[in-house]
Amino acid sequence: MSEDRAAVVTGASSGIGAATVRALAGAGFRVIGGARREDRLREVCEAVGASWARLDVTDPGSVSAFVHGLDECAIIVNNAGGALGFEPVSDADDEQWLSMYQSNVLGLMRMTRAVLPLLERGGKGHIVDVGSIAGFEVYPSGAGYTAAKHAARAVTRTLRLELLGRPVRVTEVNPGLVETEFSTVRFAGDATRAAQVYAGMTPLTAADVADCILWAVTRPPHVNVDEIVVRPRDQASATLVHREF
Ligand code: NAP
Repeated sequence: MSEDRAAVVTGASSGIGAATVRALAGAGFRVIGGARREDRLREVCEAVGASWARLDVTDPGSVSAFVHGLDECAIIVNNAGGALGFEPVSDADDEQWLSMYQSNVLGLMRMTRAVLPLLERGGKGHIVDVGSIAGFEVYPSGAGYTAAKHAARAVTRTLRLELLGRPVRVTEVNPGLVETEFSTVRFAGDATRAAQVYAGMTPLTAADVADCILWAVTRPPHVNVDEIVVRPRDQASATLVHREF
């Protein structure tokens, strides 16, 4: 299979975004990656012949500069985001909650709004939002992140209604535990604590999720894959994980 459509991937400097850049470029898409860490972004994108530009989805100026630099965009993978902190609501940190809302929700909205004219122009647009099982499940000490992912899911589902009759598909890919930098970021660089999240179980890899994204975007244009929920076999819910030590 060979594709020549242009695909934007946000949060392309690591984890699921980086794996998606590799998967889409490998299938022949013209990929443009965006993220804040330019050194990491350059390394990921240049290794597979993808273009890149600095992007902070929480900054409206950065979003418009990034999108201004695009001549085409048939697919947007809204992947930038993540979790910060792990506290009960009684100890919630306002700054962390605001930051999660900015990247996971407002960032997704801003990027989508900015590229929508390009998605429509080509007649085969596709929005792929990387949500999470946290978009429809909750767990103790996770409310800041689960609230943001619930909100992002609401935006995605609303878009599918609003875009009915227009040439843009909307897909949500909702993973369970994936071993990336996600937990290191969440626990402010504490690698030992991050490793405990995946201890004694086999998590998904970023490539497993990228494979789902690639599958969704390579279906025929009349087929809309609404939602893919993908978890490790060792995970039955956000809180129920089989571990062997
Ligand atoms: P990751 O390795 O930490 O990657 C997060 C990516 O998002 C990085 O490339 C980061 O790049 C980018 N990013 C964060 N804030 C950004 C901003 N303001 N502007 C632009 N880019 C930004 O974690 P990941 O697991 O691949 O996470 C990717 C997505 O999957 C997130 O939306 C996350 O919520 C979701 N997810 C993860 C899991 C999991 O278990 N890992 C499960 C379900 C869903 P820079 O720091 O360079 O900007």
